[in-house]
Amino acid sequence: MRQQFVAGNWKMNGSLAGNAALLAEVMAGAAQARCEVAVCVPFPYLAQAQQLLQGSKIAFGAQDCSVHLSGAHTGEVAVGMLQEFGCRYVIVGHSERRADHHESDEQVAEKAQRVIEAGMTPIVCVGETLEERESGQTDAVVLRQLRAVTQRLGEQTSRIVLAYEPVWAIGTGRTATPEQAQAVHAVLRDHLKTLGEAAGGVQILYGGSVKPDNAQVLFAQKDIDGGLIGGASLKAADFLAIIAAT
Ligand code: 13P
Repeated sequence: MRQQFVAGNWKMNGSLAGNAALLAEVMAGAAQARCEVAVCVPFPYLAQAQQLLQGSKIAFGAQDCSVHLSGAHTGEVAVGMLQEFGCRYVIVGHSERRADHHESDEQVAEKAQRVIEAGMTPIVCVGETLEERESGQTDAVVLRQLRAVTQRLGEQTSRIVLAYEPVWAIGTGRTATPEQAQAVHAVLRDHLKTLGEAAGGVQILYGGSVKPDNAQVLFAQKDIDGGLIGGASLKAADFLAIIAAT
């Protein structure tokens, strides 16, 4: 039985005072949560997350990392630094980074490998655009994105968390239906199973306009093991309601 997992992706949001209030509420409300819970915060807030979440049930992580380990790469952040600050998770391949920073499937795969080598868990994001969905390419796109990762990682694929995030559902209020999401999760699961039992048991999260009122029916799908939550992770009451829906 796969453990359910709800991770918040704060994206480029937050402030020291706001984060402290949000984390205090989330810690109090999620103390008895059945599922795993994490928040992925902007780099400057990692130290704050480390300090405030110490001893709590809430894990934390970052939203990206460099493919390089150190050196002359201005503005980049190395996995060793993230590991030093106590990150358990690092999101890699979010569609906003693929789009805004032209990250390729291969770069995303390399980042996933760096994260694993540093002893953390990559949350690998895949997902199609609206144009790709409407032209019937959804499965081909997500499998191409996933294969780049599985080819590089091989058996180590069992150490990732996968997130299916249809680009057209992110921040739009337009959620994939539970049937649409489950269908893609099943395709992803089938590919993972070809790599062995451990890889077949990887958690696959759904992301894209998950809200308190749609979380339960999404999480009830056979191959949906929780969610990667953007906007709703910034409001304690919404994030807690989503956690309670697992
Ligand atoms: P929203 O929940 O705001 O649609 O964002 C989803 C997402 O991109 C999480 O990584």
